[in-house]
Amino acid sequence: MSQTLKAVRGTRDLLPPETALWNRIEATARAVFARYNFGEIRTPIFEDTGLFARGVGEETDIVSKEMYTWSDGERFEKHKMIDEWLKRNKPDGAHVQANRSSVEHPVIEAQLRAVGVDLVVMRGVAIPGQQLPGYVDELVCFGPVVSNDLVLALKKGGELVRNDRNRELRAFGNLRLIVPASVPLTPWVDRSEVIVEQFDGEFFASSQSLTLRPENTAGVVRAYIEHKLGETGQLQKLFYIGPQFRRERPQKGRYRQFWQIGAEVIGPPSAGSESPLRDAEVLEMLATLLDELGIAGWTLELNSVGSAADRARYNDVLRAALVEVAPKMCVDCQRRAVTNPLRVLDCKVPEDQPIIAALPVIADSLDEDSKAHFAAVTAALDAAGVPYVRNHRLVRGLDYYTRTTFEFTHGGLGAQNALLGGGRYDGLSEAIGGPKAPGIGFAMGEDRLVLTLLGQPNEKPDPLPLVAYLAPIGEGLNSANIALASELRKSGLRVEAGEGSFRLKKSFEVAEKSGAQKIVILGEDELASGILTVKDFATGVQSKVPRGELADFLTK
Ligand code: AMP
Repeated sequence: MSQTLKAVRGTRDLLPPETALWNRIEATARAVFARYNFGEIRTPIFEDTGLFARGVGEETDIVSKEMYTWSDGERFEKHKMIDEWLKRNKPDGAHVQANRSSVEHPVIEAQLRAVGVDLVVMRGVAIPGQQLPGYVDELVCFGPVVSNDLVLALKKGGELVRNDRNRELRAFGNLRLIVPASVPLTPWVDRSEVIVEQFDGEFFASSQSLTLRPENTAGVVRAYIEHKLGETGQLQKLFYIGPQFRRERPQKGRYRQFWQIGAEVIGPPSAGSESPLRDAEVLEMLATLLDELGIAGWTLELNSVGSAADRARYNDVLRAALVEVAPKMCVDCQRRAVTNPLRVLDCKVPEDQPIIAALPVIADSLDEDSKAHFAAVTAALDAAGVPYVRNHRLVRGLDYYTRTTFEFTHGGLGAQNALLGGGRYDGLSEAIGGPKAPGIGFAMGEDRLVLTLLGQPNEKPDPLPLVAYLAPIGEGLNSANIALASELRKSGLRVEAGEGSFRLKKSFEVAEKSGAQKIVILGEDELASGILTVKDFATGVQSKVPRGELADFLTK
């Protein structure tokens, strides 16, 4: 028997009636966004990997371990690449085993091939009595680097050669990785470990590292740059709704494919894009949206991570403070303490929490401008009556944030309690090669909105009731029944048209199971007289209703 195929771990099917709730959320979001003068943008679901590496930040969890990345290299031909490289690079005096690896060493050749090393470059004088030169000069791997596989292969190959005492292949010189110029190397290649040569071969023309978008802000900003939206001189107010992909450990409220509803306000500084009023407007819009969705009991957590300079200063303060305490923290924090101290604040390990609570707060590292910006945001929120709490640890998991950062949380969600998150990203456009274009945006987890709403009392995923099941008595009445259904549906009612081949008893059973409130019987008599028989399942009452009054009767 063949194995049953299932939806991939972390992904799921959305089914009715829940999908009606999804649609209602999206319709409400669209309506609110329209009133705040936002237009919709739809960006591709996959982008060049470099966009996220540069835009989101290489040290972030998202980029360093959660992206779905592949090489879109249909035209990548390794053998051609190797031949071409050999033609250009035949090292002086080297004995190059062009046929991938040393044929004279069948065992080690097989081992090297098995780990993925393509070429052994040998150099030097052959030792008398032996066919081979005395040492391996270089191990070479070719290919688009889409994970650290090639780097690992090279290192493994190096170990193999080093350990091959029988052959007296002594220390080799280099580990060399030859990769297409079109593919970004980061974040996998540490250049201190291998020599990297970028190779612009023609057969690599279409080889590109692509990634399923893990978030949408980088894509929106890429589109802003690509379409020169800044040249309009106007603020761009854009919203999106769509799936995002992260290889996270699935749990309640956390999926590998999940939906985000988000918006960005971005533009040249001359359009007012840096103004704290934009931040306040976005936050007030979110409060309105959550209220209109009927989400009760949200909390707005607010912070400022300051300008790039403030953050750099805070990073130093934090790094210094961490020197003493980091050794007592989890391994991730020990690494972050060196590479990106700010991320220590994201740590969820319970034992680390008291240590983190005692670290200096970023508010004390903000300069006067950043402080004034934050004060203006909170003043506007106060004026608009939007409640918030200050959360000093809210530095968010993405590197591009500057100044205002925020999250709306909800107690009903458990561990994954963030309904949405966002902030200002004044330097993002420049980080990905665009003009100065400060902006602010957010992304809300639609899956979590659905979970929250379903957890609230009296929430009906699909509020439009199935008012009636129309049961034709006999197949001869099927057409008349379809005409009646069409009439009722045109007047806005949700009805189900039955099947004349069913006996009356079966029609009643099917009708009740379908959840219909009433059953309408259409027999020869009803058709001729225009008076229909209607039974209400809740009360058991049976009525005779003239066809012209049926729609009204069913909605009563
Ligand atoms: P982020 O892009 O990480 O700031 O996330 C913004 C919002 O998207 C979060 O507040 C969540 O509501 C939602 N979200 C992020 N990751 C996931 C996930 N793996 N599954 C479901 N929702 C998510």
